[in-house]
Parts: sequence; structure tokens; C-alpha cells
Amino acid sequence: MSHEGIRIVSKEEKAQENEEHRPLSRIAVTPHKVRVLLTEGKGLEIDWEDGHRSAWSFPWLRDACPCATCIEERKNESRKIGQPKPKPSNVLPMYKAPAKPASAHAVGRYALQFNWTDGHSGGIYSWEYLRRVCQCAECTFSATPTEGTPN
Ligand SMILES: [Zn+2]
Ligand SMILES: [Zn+2]
Repeated sequence: MSHEGIRIVSKEEKAQENEEHRPLSRIAVTPHKVRVLLTEGKGLEIDWEDGHRSAWSFPWLRDACPCATCIEERKNESRKIGQPKPKPSNVLPMYKAPAKPASAHAVGRYALQFNWTDGHSGGIYSWEYLRRVCQCAECTFSATPTEGTPN
């Protein structure tokens, strides 16, 4: 293995890495196949060039919106990426339809954008971002949860 940009790290080293700054090889952030399961309302599935497969539900993606407003909102409410808003306990529970995009389209060759049915559409989900927030067992296991926010 002598591809540049690929770094072989041991499991221990990998766990110590800050997940956000973990270097990713080009093929790891290049989608081979992208499936936006709009009609089924299921979510997004990506097969990557390196053979990895990722899947996210639409509500998760909505709560992981990478736009500045949502990042700020999550920070203020100390929510993790993809973590839903806590239900207000002092208000009568109101039925809220799970987040779903009305449409989705590619942004150049590097990202995906959703037009959510709640009117929000500011988030640009880059392939790299999506790969970093892969929710498969392997990726979520290797991601070491950090306590609090490193300010
Ligand atoms: Zn947003
Ligand atoms: Zn994964």
C-alpha cells in the first residue's frame, strides 16, 4: 500500500484521533452510488468507492443539518450531530411529522442538498461530511465520544 493520502493507523491510534480531523482518503469520500429514498421516506444510502456503505434516516439528517444556523442551535442546546431536539415538557404534545425532504439535489460534484418539508434548505451535505457522520456500527464504534465541546 503506497497510495498517497492513505495512512494506516492501528485501532488504538484511530480511537484516539479526533473524529472530526481524522484524515479520509479520497475514495472514502467519493460516492459510488447515492440513493435518496424519497418516495419510501426512508433516508439516504451511499455506497462509497472504498466499498464502505452508509445509511441515514431523514430525521437524523435533518438534525445533522450542517448549516450555520443549525450548528449554532445544536451548540446552544448542547445536542450532538443528528440528535433530535428535546421534547418540551411544558407544552401539550403536538404531532410533528418526521422530517422528510420534499426534494434533494446534487451540489456540484461534492455535496447533496435537501429541501426539507419544513421549509429549511440551507444545509449543504458534502460527501466528506456525510462520510464522517456515517452511522454504521463500525464507524460509530470507532468514534470516541468526547465529553463536552472543546472550546
Ligand atoms: Zn440547517
Ligand atoms: Zn460507516
